[in-house]
Amino acid sequence: MSFDDLGLAQPILRAVREEGYETPTPIQRQAIPAVLAGGDLLAGAQTGTGKTAGFTLPLLHQLAAGEPVKNRNGRPAIRALILTPTRELAAQVEESVRTYGKYLQLSSMVMFGGVGMGPQVDRLRRGVDILVATPGRLLDHHQQGTLDLSQVQFFVLDEADRMLDMGFIHDIKKVLAIVPAKKQSLLFSATFSDEIKTLADRLLNKPQVIEV
Ligand code: AMP
Repeated sequence: MSFDDLGLAQPILRAVREEGYETPTPIQRQAIPAVLAGGDLLAGAQTGTGKTAGFTLPLLHQLAAGEPVKNRNGRPAIRALILTPTRELAAQVEESVRTYGKYLQLSSMVMFGGVGMGPQVDRLRRGVDILVATPGRLLDHHQQGTLDLSQVQFFVLDEADRMLDMGFIHDIKKVLAIVPAKKQSLLFSATFSDEIKTLADRLLNKPQVIEV
């Protein structure tokens, strides 16, 4: 199977080719069609399996195919929210979004704590289609009223098991209370503890389950 068989738009395939990827990895072969089909997804995948492209490629496709949504200021509203446990992972995921989306007219932002809020507020004002964030700083912005998540259509929890290990369960629950109920949700985790299963039950609606 090649990337061309997965149903992704040409500008995305072009970017993937330029990365030198020849064939999709097992997680990509399963996750990409599942996400394009529009349903929720529960995926068991370790780092190094190509999981990041597994969710960013179909998300980019869905966003590019969908109607752009504007916020009150006429700027792109956040349609996709990707939560990660660490700054490093957030930065990597956003870098992947940029790389794979370079031929699309979509904007992305990475947001994490430990740096000033001001530049992040300025960046948010300019409009963002895809936000990659760690939970704490995301909630800080929401409390300050500088973040509007009312237009989120796609929600991804990456490395959910690590998020729980790091004690983010309350933050995740708060974020779930802020984003719209009607959305497509994807949960990626290397392991499936009872805690992850409980979170998956709460977040996901009849998910397709894939494990590699
Ligand atoms: P990840 O598991 O998402 O952290 O990805 C691990 C590494 O595999 C990253 O450096 C990607 O650039 C690379 N990668 C992802 N998908 C493919 C693919 N289909 N072919 C070759 N390399 C890939």
